[in-house]
Amino acid sequence: MHRKVTIEPFRIKTVEPIKLSTAEERRVWLQKAHYNPFLLTSDQVIIDLLTDSGTSAMSTEQWAGIMRGDESYAGARSWQRMEAEIKDLTGFPYILPTHQGRAAEHLLYSKLGGPGKVFIANTHFDTTRANIEFSGAKAIDCPVEAALHPEEELPFKGNMDIPSLLKTIDRYGAENIGAIILTVTNNSGGGQPVSMENARQIAEIAGEKGILFILDACRIAENAYFIKQREAGFENKSYREIAREMFRLADGAIMSAKKDALVNMGGFLALKDLDLALQCRTSLIITEGYSTYGGLSGRDMEAIAIGLREVFDPHYLEYRIRSTTYVGDKLHEMGVPIIRPVGGHAVYIDAKSFYPHIPPEQFPGQALACKLYEVAGIRACEIGSVMFGHYEEDGTFVPAAMELVRLAIPRRVYTQSHMDYVTEAFRELLDEREKVRGFRITYEPPFLRHFTAHFEHV
Ligand SMILES: *Cc1c(COP(=O)(O)O)cnc(C)c1O
Repeated sequence: MHRKVTIEPFRIKTVEPIKLSTAEERRVWLQKAHYNPFLLTSDQVIIDLLTDSGTSAMSTEQWAGIMRGDESYAGARSWQRMEAEIKDLTGFPYILPTHQGRAAEHLLYSKLGGPGKVFIANTHFDTTRANIEFSGAKAIDCPVEAALHPEEELPFKGNMDIPSLLKTIDRYGAENIGAIILTVTNNSGGGQPVSMENARQIAEIAGEKGILFILDACRIAENAYFIKQREAGFENKSYREIAREMFRLADGAIMSAKKDALVNMGGFLALKDLDLALQCRTSLIITEGYSTYGGLSGRDMEAIAIGLREVFDPHYLEYRIRSTTYVGDKLHEMGVPIIRPVGGHAVYIDAKSFYPHIPPEQFPGQALACKLYEVAGIRACEIGSVMFGHYEEDGTFVPAAMELVRLAIPRRVYTQSHMDYVTEAFRELLDEREKVRGFRITYEPPFLRHFTAHFEHV
């Protein structure tokens, strides 16, 4: 076998047509969408890299599982399969199904949170932060310093900074820490991995100080890939063994099954402590559904059980990470500034260096996302000052830390030639850099403005 070539380890059985369009058509559509790609319809998009969440292609086994789904209200066979699979993987005895990750976060963080409580993470994902802050508690990020430097090539840029963790615990008092949350991979920066050593150190600190340690395990299989490739002592372990080892360091886990469980909807909360599990279960039954289905259909649970097994297939993981790296490396070679090294699920482009003539208050990331759509019908997501920038009361503009555009890669969906099409589009963008103008906002809602804001050219 050729060991140097990585191919998609699947063949295509069902196809979903892509509607092709011309740049002229897209210019009109984008204007009608007020220069916000979130307001485009999927038919207007050729390659959709908006998110890797819930966009996976399911396997023949998963579709077969969907036909087997047991839709009984209580104690369905599909629930038993999902529960057994998660127990075996995580080692936690109490499993609560939810309709997606944020529902599990709401169950847990509304119990552990509240005014006066503090949560510490490598980086809180936005729904994690929102659920914590909604409870009245505070969310503090302690990423390693390298996470803020796009060019710095380090193996585990997703790690938590241990000195800042200790300092933060001392500052607020261990008794006021709701939980330490480790997000693997760390979503910010495109899925930068977390090392086992970092997880071990956190587990030790949490244990000593009597603080709960929660894993946000959305991309635990992708993280296991990086550990096996980059961390000493894991060369001969399987990806699943590595993931199991990491779960066993924590006191509980949250997972959005829309990522590494390879399904379109679902999630769960897994806990070690009976009392906490019972409290969360009461909320589950009030808000999500009975404890053996959460917000899920039997067929969804069946597909999750199968997906959680498939995701650890070494050929799948190799293809998955290599195909993300493929896009990043090609862009890097062409001179497109990206966050290095490439992470697991996305490539982040540094729009501030791509369009140095557009100041942050004119949203270089939005300009790049719009241009990419106009030129090639590719939909990406701005992660910069549209998302995080704001004005102080005295009128000064506070930009985001970085002006990024994320190309998130859906799992098992696009082929290498689709990705070649994406990188080719950037060639055209590179040639026309100086002509591109920034934007101003003409409408914005009070919260999460990036989803629905309207823009016009400056
Ligand atoms: C997606 C995601 C969540 C939230 O899950 P949803 O299924 O979208 O509700 C939480 N944490 C991380 C790291 C995620 O990527």
